[in-house]
Amino acid sequence: MKLLQNKVAIITGGTRGIGKAIALKYAGEGCRIAFTGRSDSPAMQQTLAEIEAACRAAGVSEELACKAYVNDSTNFNEVDALVKKIVEDFGHIDILVNNAGITKDTLMLRMSEQVWDDVVDTNLKGAFNFTHACVPFMARQRSGSLIYMSSVVAQGGNAGQANYAASKAGLIGLSHSMAKEFGARGIRANCITPGLILTDMSAALGDKIIEDNLQYIPMKRAGKPEEVAGAALFLASDLSSYVTGSVISCDGGRFIF
Ligand code: NDP
Repeated sequence: MKLLQNKVAIITGGTRGIGKAIALKYAGEGCRIAFTGRSDSPAMQQTLAEIEAACRAAGVSEELACKAYVNDSTNFNEVDALVKKIVEDFGHIDILVNNAGITKDTLMLRMSEQVWDDVVDTNLKGAFNFTHACVPFMARQRSGSLIYMSSVVAQGGNAGQANYAASKAGLIGLSHSMAKEFGARGIRANCITPGLILTDMSAALGDKIIEDNLQYIPMKRAGKPEEVAGAALFLASDLSSYVTGSVISCDGGRFIF
């Protein structure tokens, strides 16, 4: 029996990076996948084909194993309609991974209202939108796993990332609140706080900053998206059936340094 057999997961921002790695990990455990991205890009189509193949290799036999949806997670009404469509397509939702995220780094003295809003709307309001749309279905079936992709900077802050750190800290409060509101209905809510993970997002920092950061990481290396996916698999599966309201670090020890 695969760990996620007969389950359906929504993964926001599943086209690339950490979201894609989670989608592939879940698919390999027999999970059917609905993932989102901002546009119907070649990356989205490539990811769709890879996930479909992983689902089939894991023995998923339903006609619909995986579907990609173009969606902007910041739009409340669009997200609500999308989640209803996903339930229509797949029949149910068992796992929601709130992974879509962006950075727009700048120091507070230079931070415009727009730059603040863009980051908070995508990273925090987007997770609210998906949570709000999914929990009625999960509450009715009396089971569900909500996973929030926070960040090590939620706990430690970071100069030049006030918008990002605030949005990621907000996810921890959101997740804890969901754990309390829905624990009795069988819905668990947990956060992952990745450190430096090698994706398009961290590549934008440049080699020098990445290299400089390694001195603060006890494991002396950056992480891989697949390593975050391991934590996300634990939280999605029954391996974590009594785990809710937790914040799991996946940062090579960065937070304790
Ligand atoms: P990437 O930039 O590689 O991928 C981001 C993903 O989010 C893409 O799939 C992108 O879709 C999607 N996305 C962005 N904005 C929206 C939106 N408004 N609506 C829908 N989808 C959107 O990022 P990572 O894989 O590195 O990061 C994934 C998550 O992990 C983020 O929340 C990030 O903050 C968090 N994280 C990352 C760390 C790192 O070091 N990489 C460290 C700590 C946390 P599209 O392809 O269409 O643009």
